[in-house]
Amino acid sequence: MKPEVIIVGGGITGLSAARLLSRKGVPFLLLESEAVLGGRIQSENHDGFILDKGFQILNTAYPEWANHDINLNALSLKSFASGAKIFQNGKVHTLADPLREGPVAFQALFSKSVSIKDMLLILKLRSKLNKQNNTEVFGMKKETTLHFLQQFGFSQAFINAFFKPFYAGIFLESELKTPVSMFSFVFKAFADGTAALPANGMQQFIKLISSELNDENIHLSAKVTGVQSGSVTIEGGSVVSAPHIWVTTGTQSFQGLQRKEWKGNHNTSVLYFSADIAPKWGKFIGLNANEGGLVNHFCMPSAVQPGYSPEGKHLISSSLRPGLAYQAGMENLVVDELKKMNAIQHPIAFLKAISVPLALPELDSMRFEPELIQLQEGVIATGDFAAYPSANAAMHAGRLLLETL
Ligand SMILES: Cc1cc2nc3c(=O)[nH]c(=O)nc-3n(C[C@H](O)[C@H](O)[C@H](O)COP(=O)(O)OP(=O)(O)OC[C@H]3O[C@@H](n4cnc5c(N)ncnc54)[C@H](O)[C@@H]3O)c2cc1C
Repeated sequence: MKPEVIIVGGGITGLSAARLLSRKGVPFLLLESEAVLGGRIQSENHDGFILDKGFQILNTAYPEWANHDINLNALSLKSFASGAKIFQNGKVHTLADPLREGPVAFQALFSKSVSIKDMLLILKLRSKLNKQNNTEVFGMKKETTLHFLQQFGFSQAFINAFFKPFYAGIFLESELKTPVSMFSFVFKAFADGTAALPANGMQQFIKLISSELNDENIHLSAKVTGVQSGSVTIEGGSVVSAPHIWVTTGTQSFQGLQRKEWKGNHNTSVLYFSADIAPKWGKFIGLNANEGGLVNHFCMPSAVQPGYSPEGKHLISSSLRPGLAYQAGMENLVVDELKKMNAIQHPIAFLKAISVPLALPELDSMRFEPELIQLQEGVIATGDFAAYPSANAAMHAGRLLLETL
């Protein structure tokens, strides 16, 4: 059947649009340049370990789950602990949500970097953001996260020990220059929901979202080299026509996608290790609150989802400080650092490092509702780069595309 819509790109934006088209019975063709679907969300099997392409989580409070009628039970999500272990000067302190983790939450007060005032400010911030919806959050005054936190009254010691490494793991930049709207969206999502992993790795989310699609509507290894009103050109020269063309490739691929808010991309590298004896931090994310060093944060995906490692083994993931890209030999330095921090007491064996060069778009201003960018008559582009860097924005963008039909 002649397609009504051609979707260029098979990441979350393209796939969520395809799923909605398929449910409506609209004929479409999805063209993906890689041999697999998923875009920036991928997992690989490495000797029985599941390695996600970069440290990624799904937040159970994302509004788009409901908007897309996605059954999260199908992912068998399990959650990280609500909080973090702060590793500083050879000591470790737990900072957690008292409502969910109980008395351990207050243990951070024994750390020099966490004062009662900082803890009370966290509660005040939570209550302030609770009263705002996401549209209001993205309408906040344009300022950096760092400026906002300082003005809110948090101590610099607390910002350095908690906010910087924790949000560097999400923003993929450690100066907290990301707009406060993104910070507030993520803070709210952590307060309302939990950070979770699917049973079989992040790739399971891609499998779920593409499970209703017909293989004949999807062409893999089909790189689109040109888009024009009414048709696209695929590498090799073939041309496919449709009245509607939706470009969901991210910022790089086509002219007109590099908007003024887009400043480049953040990269990330994650190193995976196997352990015979599980470290003590369990389901908590560990933060390196020391100055300098290679490690930003670390966690144990197999403590959250046992399927991430083979029986009797544990999977440790350690992300490098933003801006650092993995180079051969760094794994030894990372192990030394984890030992020095007192994060590991037993040997761990290096499995693999994964670097993601174009992980997140760097945007100096963000919006909740993804922009639909009209490239030409009938050609619309959108994605997380047209809103804010999150799978929620990508799903939202996919949904908005349907409204243009
Ligand atoms: C390391 C990392 C950690 C992250 N952590 C989180 C997290 O914890 N929580 C969260 O919500 N989000 C997270 N994100 C962000 C989230 O993954 C993205 O927002 C989302 O996957 C973007 O989806 P997309 O479809 O818009 O773009 P992409 O996934 O980039 O998809 C674009 C697709 O287009 C294809 N393509 C490109 N050019 C062409 C062409 N010329 N022809 C055909 N196809 C083409 C690409 O191959 C790709 O498949 C993270 C991302 C990374 C990389």
